[in-house]
Amino acid sequence: MVTNLRKEKAPIEMAAVTLDGHTRAFLKLQEGCDQFCTFCIVPFSRGTSRSVDPRRVMIALDDLHARGFKEVVLTGVHLGGYGKDLEPPVELAELLEMIAERCPLDRVRISSLDPEELSDRIVEIISGSEKFCPHLHLPLQSGDDETLSRMRRRYARDYFRDRVDRVLASWPDAAIGTDLIVGFPGETGAHFESYFDFVESIPLAYFHVFPYSVRVGTTAAKFTGRVAPAEIKRRAALMRELGDRKRVEFASRFVGTTLKVLLEERGTDGTLRGYSRNYLRVSTQGPDQLTNREVVVEASTVEGTQLVGEIVRPWAARAVCGGAS
Ligand code: SF4
Repeated sequence: MVTNLRKEKAPIEMAAVTLDGHTRAFLKLQEGCDQFCTFCIVPFSRGTSRSVDPRRVMIALDDLHARGFKEVVLTGVHLGGYGKDLEPPVELAELLEMIAERCPLDRVRISSLDPEELSDRIVEIISGSEKFCPHLHLPLQSGDDETLSRMRRRYARDYFRDRVDRVLASWPDAAIGTDLIVGFPGETGAHFESYFDFVESIPLAYFHVFPYSVRVGTTAAKFTGRVAPAEIKRRAALMRELGDRKRVEFASRFVGTTLKVLLEERGTDGTLRGYSRNYLRVSTQGPDQLTNREVVVEASTVEGTQLVGEIVRPWAARAVCGGAS
């Protein structure tokens, strides 16, 4: 039996919560997408955008808190589409406001938001709340305007820069990450150079690089101007190298500062590891009882792309940087 997923209206199951150890929970608030970016199969494979009612979201957050989780990541296939299908419609900003006021967990992250959906109001709500971690993932996908238009993205690159500037004006220590596709059909060498320079000029904390590959059933699968596989590989390698540099630059900014770190696990080298509120991987020494607890770490050095430091007692913490407090 075959169903038309674009007619799928069934509410999504709140049980679709993925658990990662017992420290961080992923709470899915939204499913499907109505946007039809030309490279993406999601609107066909996952159906139309559907959202979880805010009351159910708040109950789920209470439940996660009662079960001992310290951090929640709000997820969705296209989170920016949240609430438009509800009756009456709810704006994502309204839900985030409720979470800022009533969520019992101290650390809330937003998994990903398309740049055009990050309104000034959302920035004000999350940057003004102690609960939201100073961390945003804004998928850029390309840093060339012609390519963005062929991808059917809904912003130009200068708008992306404007959003990053807006976030950092309110949250100077925020980690902003992105997704980048390289070798999209029609991306010439000149496009890529301008794309690379643009990404280099933006203060990003990290990014994920995806070499373009054809998805059968998408609009882009019919595009001409395919980039040769070896060239896609070369562009991806250059972009990843830039990404490693950006990660180290971002982490290095916090050497000598104190950060609130939620310790998650003991690594094979015996160190305790976790993430700061602004999504820096941090390793330190300490007893097992500190896992699943937020501690204050004074960062002394960067190893690879992670910070290394010593736990200081919270009451001894000196200037706790914005990414930490
Ligand atoms: S890339 Fe995101 S916004 Fe675009 S169609 Fe896919 S899920 Fe929707």
